[in-house]
Amino acid sequence: MNEYSNCCTANRMFPESDLCSHCKEHADFEEFNNIKDLVSSINKFDNYYEMADDPRVYAIGLASEIAIDKELTQLTKEEVSEVKNSLSTVGKVIWVRYFNKI
Ligand SMILES: [Zn+2]
Repeated sequence: MNEYSNCCTANRMFPESDLCSHCKEHADFEEFNNIKDLVSSINKFDNYYEMADDPRVYAIGLASEIAIDKELTQLTKEEVSEVKNSLSTVGKVIWVRYFNKI
């Protein structure tokens, strides 16, 4: 699995660096090493980020949505079911709202 910057879902510039390879600026990275990481990212996803007044909050929410989407499209049907079945109650609401496209 992969990691994505919270600005534009690009990779790290170098391993161990916190620079986004696309923006060349400091960023936080969302890492997905297994199904569990994906489940926890969906569970803590910023529901309603698109209503945020702060453009930075919006950008981070959008980047996170894109990153999760990219990971989901790499999974098999069985793995997607595993993600769905492992979600918290809040995570299931978020799933229906944002990720129930596959
Ligand atoms: Zn970036």
